[in-house]
Amino acid sequence: MIIDFHTHAFPDNVAERALKRVESKGGIKPKFDGTLSGLLLSMDKAGISISVVLSIATRPGQFDSILKWSGTIRSDRIIPFPSVHPDDYYVQEHIREIKKQGFKGLKMHPYFQNFYVDEERMFPVYETIAGSDLILVLHCGFDFAYERIDRAGPQRILRVVERCPELKLVAAHSGGWQQWDDVEKLLTGKNIYFEISFSQGFMNDKQFKRMIVKHSSDLILFGTDTPWADQKAALENFENLKISQDIKSNIFFKNAMRLLKIDDS
Ligand SMILES: [Zn+2]
Repeated sequence: MIIDFHTHAFPDNVAERALKRVESKGGIKPKFDGTLSGLLLSMDKAGISISVVLSIATRPGQFDSILKWSGTIRSDRIIPFPSVHPDDYYVQEHIREIKKQGFKGLKMHPYFQNFYVDEERMFPVYETIAGSDLILVLHCGFDFAYERIDRAGPQRILRVVERCPELKLVAAHSGGWQQWDDVEKLLTGKNIYFEISFSQGFMNDKQFKRMIVKHSSDLILFGTDTPWADQKAALENFENLKISQDIKSNIFFKNAMRLLKIDDS
C-alpha cells in the first residue's frame, strides 16, 4: 500500500492551460497530462494505491468550481483537498462548507495565493480549519516557480505552529523547500507532518535521513508533487533510501492512513 499525499490534477478542459502556466514560470516539464485519467494511469504504473489531489484557488472566485470538481473526482483511490483563497470575503464559511461536504482537508499556497504564512489575517483562517478538524496542506519553503521572497520559511511556520498548536498541518517539501538547514534547527520534533516531495535529490541523503530520524518517522508522509515529478521515479528513489523497512512503511502509508482516518480492514 502506498499513498501519495501530494499530487495535482485538473478538469480535462483546463488541464493543458494550467500545466502550461506553471511550466513557463518554473521551467519544469509535467510528467503526465494533468487530467484525472492521466493521474490514475501514473498511479497504476507506479503502484500507488491512493493519491491526495491538492487544488489551489488562485482567485477567491475559484472556490465553488474547485469544490464542485473535487466532489466529482473522489473515490477509493482519489482523496481531493479543495482550496480557499485568503482574500475570500467568505473564507470562514467556505472552510466550513469543505468540512460539511465531507472532505478531509484543504490546500493553501503562499506563492500562488500571495500571502505570508504568519501574517495576522491568516490566524483566524487556521483556527477555523483546526476547529473544523480539517487537515491543512501548506506549501512550505521557497517555490521553484517564484522569486526567493521568504513567504513560508521555517521561522514563519514555527510561529504558526506555536500560535495554533491544534492545527493539523502538513508542511509540504519536508517542511520548507531549500530551507532545510533551518527546518532542521526550528521545526524537527514539532507536532506537524512533513510531506517529502522535492526533497531527495535536492538535499543530500545524509541530511534527509537525519531529518527523518530527528523529526520522527511517525510524522512524515510520502508525496511526489506529480505532475511536477514522476510518481514511479520518486517512489523508486525513496524505496532505495537506506533506512529501515519499518520507517518506510510509516512514511509510505501508515501515517497517512492514520491522519486521513482510512480504515485498514
Ligand atoms: Zn505541489
